[in-house]
Amino acid sequence: MEPGNQRLFLGLIIAFGFGLVLGAALCRSGHKKGRAEGTNGDEAFLKGVHYILSNDHDHAIEEFTKSVQVNSDTIETYVALGNLYRSKGDIERAIRIRQSIILRPKLDAHIRLRALVDLGYDYRKGGFFNRSLSTFLQVIEQDPSNVEVLEELERLYEEMKDWDKAFKTRQKISRIAKGDHKNIMAHHLVESGKAQQQAGDPAKAKSFYNKAISTHKECVDAYLHLGDLHFQNGDFKKAISIWEKIIQVSPRFTFLAYNRLEGAYAKMKDLRPVEAFLKKCAEANADAFTHLAIAKYRSNEGDIEGALKEAEHALELAPSLWEAARFKGDLLLRKGNSDEAMAAYTALLERLDLPYLRFQCANCGFEPSHLQWQCPQCKKWDTIRPMDASAEKPVLAV
Ligand SMILES: [Zn+2]
Repeated sequence: MEPGNQRLFLGLIIAFGFGLVLGAALCRSGHKKGRAEGTNGDEAFLKGVHYILSNDHDHAIEEFTKSVQVNSDTIETYVALGNLYRSKGDIERAIRIRQSIILRPKLDAHIRLRALVDLGYDYRKGGFFNRSLSTFLQVIEQDPSNVEVLEELERLYEEMKDWDKAFKTRQKISRIAKGDHKNIMAHHLVESGKAQQQAGDPAKAKSFYNKAISTHKECVDAYLHLGDLHFQNGDFKKAISIWEKIIQVSPRFTFLAYNRLEGAYAKMKDLRPVEAFLKKCAEANADAFTHLAIAKYRSNEGDIEGALKEAEHALELAPSLWEAARFKGDLLLRKGNSDEAMAAYTALLERLDLPYLRFQCANCGFEPSHLQWQCPQCKKWDTIRPMDASAEKPVLAV
């Protein structure tokens, strides 16, 4: 089953489960009458459930509609119908059903609240973000510790890039739900910092990045951007010392700092801090990326032989690292060794269909084309990891 269908199916099962719980609750609280009278309605309801299970949504809708015609008291059927319409993209109908539930007199407060939550989902699915937001906020007014709805609100704020509200919402969640929330809060702070930087306020941006690091000291994105800020101000030493921290907190992402270093070669008069940084990287985590970074440094210094050795070392560790193969070819050409350069480029061509650095979300399996801190599919933070193209496992040990 495709992931989209899987999610839909799970959603329907949950909706159905919810319907059953509601049904049971209604029976217990004396609403049994309608159900007992409506045998035909029951049959249609069960048939509808059967159709949900066999993924036949159109027939399920048909049976549920029959069921409510016979027995219009059954809230669970309406809930299931609303969810089916939503899953089919018929948002208008889904919304009307939700509203008809909410408007019922003498409705149990919990059921009304649940219908409001569903209405929030309907609006969201229909792309009515502001209505979805205000509906979820209404739910939170009545039920402030509803983590499911707080998470939906957080996601809406994230999509609207309202990082301050996303942060505050996650703060609320962290007070209610167990688990580690610090990495998410740190990302919200980094995003606020990026927005400040874009708006031309580096001082505010810096304070957000620092706050992110003190919230979660493994927040690689915060080190990268804080380093960039110092770099832009011409404080290269400070920038490198900040990028260096990534080696300690999350060595698998040190490679992200390497590309930034290349920008430093042209600007820095004294490259000793870069050399010291690369030496530390090699001691802590001598992976193919580190050897490639050292190769580029050596080449910049004019040490072609030394650079070649490092590029070869990188290729020994990761034969499919095409960037190292290309760099080796460039070095050989500079050395005037065109035959060998040709051989290196040919090897590179064979690898072109094999992107070396692939990324995959550890939560949902999504493979983005480049590294992102939040998975675009499941919206989880810090679940996307680098993978080895051939081995289907993370490239670098933590
Ligand atoms: Zn994911």
